[in-house]
Amino acid sequence: MSNSAGPQKQSRMIADREDPWISVSLLAENAYCSRAGIIQNETGLDDTGEELFHLGRGRQRLVFYDFKQLVRALKRTFTFTVCSIIVLIFSIVAGQLLVNSPALWKNMVQIGDLELHVSWYDVAQASFNVIMIISLICVGYGILRWLYIYLFRYLPAKWARAAEPNPLHTEAQTVKWWGLLNAGFQVIRPQDQYRDVRWHLAGCPWRVLVKGNLRIPVYKKRPNRGNAGEKLFRQHYARMAAYCHLLEKCENADSPYGIILFGDSHIGITVPCLPGTKKTFHDGLIDARKTISYSKHFLPPYPKNPQICVLCPHSRRERYTGASVCGNRFGWIPPNYRDAYAW
Ligand code: SF4
Repeated sequence: MSNSAGPQKQSRMIADREDPWISVSLLAENAYCSRAGIIQNETGLDDTGEELFHLGRGRQRLVFYDFKQLVRALKRTFTFTVCSIIVLIFSIVAGQLLVNSPALWKNMVQIGDLELHVSWYDVAQASFNVIMIISLICVGYGILRWLYIYLFRYLPAKWARAAEPNPLHTEAQTVKWWGLLNAGFQVIRPQDQYRDVRWHLAGCPWRVLVKGNLRIPVYKKRPNRGNAGEKLFRQHYARMAAYCHLLEKCENADSPYGIILFGDSHIGITVPCLPGTKKTFHDGLIDARKTISYSKHFLPPYPKNPQICVLCPHSRRERYTGASVCGNRFGWIPPNYRDAYAW
C-alpha cells in the first residue's frame, strides 16, 4: 500500500503498481460501508455519476436537462402530430370515396365456400373508421404533448433567471439547473471515465458543466424518503471532491465545487471543494484501497449501526426468496426498511 512512509513517495495518495484501481462509485460506497465497497468492486460497473434509483419515487417522464433535448422532443412531437393528421385526412377521404364505390365493393365476402353476411364495402368502411379514430386520438395526444412540453418544460427553462454560484463561496448554495444554463454553462455528457493513473482513480460524473476554465461535475442523487432526500453524507462529499480532482487533472481546469441534483428535479446544491472535503476524499481513497486489497483474505464485519443497512439498496430482498445482494455475499440477513411493512 502506498500509505507506508518511504523515501521515494511524494504523497500518500500515489498508488503503488499493485494497488487496485478505485472507481469513484467504489470510493463512495466504501465510505458508506466497507461491505458495500466490496460489492461495488465485484459488480465491476463503471461509475455513471448517478445514484441507483432503488428507493423513493421512480423516474418522471418528460424530464429534460438540455435545450437540445427539449427542441428535439418538440420537433418529434410536431412530426408525429403532422403524420397523424395526414393519416386522418387520408382515412376521411378514402371513406368518402368508398361511398361512391363500384358495385364490386358491394359483393359479399367470400372465404372458400363460405359467404359471410358482410360485404367488402362494409369491411373497408369499418377499417377506415378504425384508422380514422386511432389517428384522431394520435392527433389529440400529439397536440396535448406538444403543448405540455412547450408550456411546462420549454418556456420555464427559457425564462429561468440566469444565476451562477459564487465559486469562492465556502457554504453550499442552492442552484437551479436552467438558471445555470442561462448563465452560460454548457452541458457535456462525458463519454468515458476520467482517470488519474498516479492515484489509480477513475470516475465519470453524470454531466459536466463547462464555462471558461470552469469544469463543474454534476451528480444525480436518488430521491430518498421524507426529509432525508436532501441530506448529504460523507460518501457524497468524498465523491464530489473526487470528481473535482479528476476534472482538474484530466482537463487542466478549475473545479472549485461540484453540484448534486436531487432525483429528477432541476434543483440541487453546490458542494464546495474545501480542505475538509478533500481530506474526506483522500482518506476515503486510501481506505477503499485497503478494503479491496484485503478483501480476499479478510471480510469487514457488519456495520456497528445496523440502521445504515435499512435504507441500503444491497439489503433489499427478493420478494419470494428473501435473498438480498449483501445477504448472499456475506451470508447474513441485513435489516431492510421493508421489514417494517412485513411483506
Ligand atoms: S446492507 Fe448493510 S452491510 Fe450490506 S452493504 Fe448495505 S450497509 Fe453494508
